[in-house]
Amino acid sequence: MQLIDGKTLAQKVHTSVANEVEQLKQEKNIVPGLAVILVGDDPASHAYVKMKAKACEKVGFYSISHNMPDTISQEEIIATIEMMNANPRIDGILVQLPLPKHVDTDKILEVIDPKKDVDGFHAYNVGRLVTGLDSFVACTPLGVMKMFEEYNIDLEGKDVCVVGASNIVGKPMAALLLNANATVTVTHIFTKDLKAHTSKADIVVVGVGVPGLIKEDMIKDGAIVIDIGINRIENGSLVGDVDFKHVSPKCSYITPVPGGVGPMTIAMLLSNTLKAAKTRA
Ligand code: NAD
Repeated sequence: MQLIDGKTLAQKVHTSVANEVEQLKQEKNIVPGLAVILVGDDPASHAYVKMKAKACEKVGFYSISHNMPDTISQEEIIATIEMMNANPRIDGILVQLPLPKHVDTDKILEVIDPKKDVDGFHAYNVGRLVTGLDSFVACTPLGVMKMFEEYNIDLEGKDVCVVGASNIVGKPMAALLLNANATVTVTHIFTKDLKAHTSKADIVVVGVGVPGLIKEDMIKDGAIVIDIGINRIENGSLVGDVDFKHVSPKCSYITPVPGGVGPMTIAMLLSNTLKAAKTRA
């Protein structure tokens, strides 16, 4: 069994982005800029935004954060996004999810200029992804693809089972895998017999939010298991959706939690923002 080390790979991406930022500054006098919009006071969202701001600073980006109270109106959020759309120093706009209940998330995401949609959530980019055209791709599934590339894991013709079908994780993950010529099965909460699908797969990619959902008897010998889940359990520690202790001995490759997919998400956000800045150049 080999661990897929997301922490080290993410660091490698950070270094490469920082080098390219330096080059962009010197050759074109451009500093990539990211605007983060944060609504409400959810502690996890604040922690994520803080981590993103720190990562931006480290690689030499210009970054601004718009922190808004959860009483803010949808119109005011839209006005802020439109301001960022028009700001020439801003290449990427990220709206931290989840948004408060009175806000229509789909409507908000549609206001972001697709050329600045570094989270890849805008329907324009999702449509391009599904069609196999160049687009901004959601950072978490993009990070998983980067892991496959780094570890020379060939996807062509492989049976891949994606567990979880959200717009930000499972669906874009399935589209990327299909574009890479894998045979993809997507499973979700209404799937009748999850084990029947996971146990046949060469590769299982799980992003659900249920600690320990994937057990030893659900995975075939030698499978590759990618755990996107991040769950804080009662004793305060972070665990994934896979019963790592019992599943890992059966795998050829597996991602740990923490230190697996998590760090790759921020790395891909930096990479997407750099890509947007290069378009400006
Ligand atoms: P979500 O709640 O939007 O979607 C969950 C998906 O899992 C749904 O499609 C649902 O049908 C499916 N599901 C739920 N219970 C299931 C079950 N028992 N069997 C099969 N399918 C089931 O969640 P999300 O935003 O997609 O996040 C999923 C997980 O991934 C969470 O743990 C989240 O913290 C994590 N996540 C991690 C990163 C990262 O950077 N590593 C990024 C985003 C999300």
